[in-house]
Formats: sequence, C-alpha cells, structure tokens
Amino acid sequence: MKKFIFTFFTLSFLFIACEQNVEDIASKQESIEINMSDFYVYTEDIPNARTTEDAKADKCYTMKVLNQQLKEDPSLEHRMYNIEKHTRTLIANKGSVNKGKPGGGETPPPPTPYTGTVTIPVIVNILEDPAHPVTQAHINSQIAILNDDFNNNNSRTVTVPTEFASLVANANITFTLAGVNRKTSTKTSWGTNDAMKYESQGGINATDPTKYLNIWVCEIGGGILGYAQFPGGTLATDGVVIGSDYFGENTAGGVYGHGRTATHEVGHWLNLRHIWGDGRCRQDDFVADTPSSDGPNYGCPAYPTINCQSADMTMNYMDYTYDNCMYMFTLGQNDRMRTLFAEGGFRRSFVQ
Ligand SMILES: [Zn+2]
Repeated sequence: MKKFIFTFFTLSFLFIACEQNVEDIASKQESIEINMSDFYVYTEDIPNARTTEDAKADKCYTMKVLNQQLKEDPSLEHRMYNIEKHTRTLIANKGSVNKGKPGGGETPPPPTPYTGTVTIPVIVNILEDPAHPVTQAHINSQIAILNDDFNNNNSRTVTVPTEFASLVANANITFTLAGVNRKTSTKTSWGTNDAMKYESQGGINATDPTKYLNIWVCEIGGGILGYAQFPGGTLATDGVVIGSDYFGENTAGGVYGHGRTATHEVGHWLNLRHIWGDGRCRQDDFVADTPSSDGPNYGCPAYPTINCQSADMTMNYMDYTYDNCMYMFTLGQNDRMRTLFAEGGFRRSFVQ
C-alpha cells in the first residue's frame, strides 16, 4: 500500500510537472509578440546625402517599381504585410527555440526559417539588342557568380572588416540554368514598366514563376542596372530584370560588369530590402544585424564609412557599391530569405 501511495504521488507530481511544462511552452509561445509598427512599403525620393557623380543615377529601380505596383494594386500592401509578419514570426521563433531548454515539452516546435537544401532553377529571357550581345559565356558566368555569392564563395569576402566578419552568411542556395529564351529586339530602352515580361508587348512571357526564377535581360535605359519584384507581387511579372551590359562577367559593364547586379536583385526577389532601409537613419531594412544608414553608398568606400553613428556595411550586396566592392550577406539577411521557403512561405513551392 505504501508503495502504491508513493507511486500515486510520484505519478501525480509527474503529471503536474508535465502540465506546467506544456503551460510554460504555451505561455512562451503567446509571449512572442510580433511588432509590425515599423513596416513600410511606400518609399519617398529623399535627397541623397552622397553627392558623387555615381550617386546621380538610379542604380536599382526596385523600390520605384514597387511604389508604382502599389498604386496600381492596393491589395499588394496587405500581401506584403502578411509575408513580413510570417518572416518576423519565424525569426522570433528561432530566437525563442534557441533560448529554450532542449527537448522540453510535447508540443511540436514552432516553425523557423527553412534549413534544408534550396535549389533555384533559372530561366534567362533575353531581349537581345545586337549592339549589346548576351553570350552563353555571359549566362554561364552569371550563374557561377550567383552560386559564389549565395554560397559564401566570393573570393573578396576574406577582406570583410573584423567588425562584420562574424556576421557573414552562407545562404547555401544553389542556382541551376534551366533554360534560355531569346528574342531579337532593337528596342534600346525597355524602361521599368515590365513590358519585357509580356509577349503581347514584344517581350517574353515568364516560365512558371512558382518553380523558376525568371531573369529578363534587356536594355533598360536611363543608367538603370536592374530591378526586381518582391515576394507578394503578381506572378506574371515575378522575377528580376538586368541590363544586358551588367549581366554576368561582361567587359561592357565596366565597374558593374561582374555580375553583382543579379546578386543584388535576387536578394530583393528573396525579400531583402536595401541595406540603408530606403530612408533616413531610423528607417530599417528589417534585419537586426545590419547597421543603420541614411542612404546608399557608391563607388568603393574605405572602411569605416560612418553614417548614423556607426560604420556602414558598404560591402553588403544590398548596397549600391561597385561590383567588386560588395561581397557579403549577413546571418540576419539569410534568415529573412530562408523564411520564404518554410511552411507558409511565399517561395515554398521551390522546395516541395
Ligand atoms: Zn536594389
């Protein structure tokens, strides 16, 4: 009998302990509040603090194209808000799982950024101006550069300053060439209204954007290197656009002829914002481990370049520096990109 009573009490204690454990986890889960108060989609043209010759041209038109798309489709803002909330929730979950006790509790762990293999098949759609040829060598070199940059294999990454060295990420994303579509075009300025993405407007239609990254290569004009569409946009226009001289290893592109426009634009396609947050010091890029800044950097800045009382990460792929002067993504940017491939993520179909 004594033995029975002892067992009973022991079981009761275990039961209560178990219950408390579950409650602990539940309350911990509930305690993760996702603050969305700083979320923004529209950006303004702010006078640039940098006044070099380079700064006069818009290198990347992604945010301006987004403004236009938001005007044409007001529901886009809501879709981007939901994607952002999903992103922040999974990153917060990762933080809480890391802090929690290992193996505690029966509830399944909350979803975190995707950790599996990611392979992105690429379709290159070329609207070729004969004066700006895009060769198979350009295409092959571009795929190789994307693979270098998204697998921490850029030879210049060793020069990342000590301050940022521990933040360098291996995004571990592989790009494979899945197809090339070519169409000759004498148009010297396709602009940024997505005409190159529609056969009806002289362009080339996208190949299933739920399974392929579509890259359009054409003469954009206006000194623009490229632009991308963020997750949440219309499927028919999902992908990135790169000016023909800036595609792959290309002597015609000069300081922008080493394939980093595609790295930058694919960063946007994977939901990365510009590293300075497209605003002044307090406007963020939604990444915790990137320093705040008040504008893009151009050329090949010396370290440290101080803005907003900290050194800018001018070597980040999401700044506007020369191709050879950008050579890192951060761990925070990597988490952000990888939430897209987790359950409920906008690019989940690429890993299923
Ligand atoms: Zn950009």
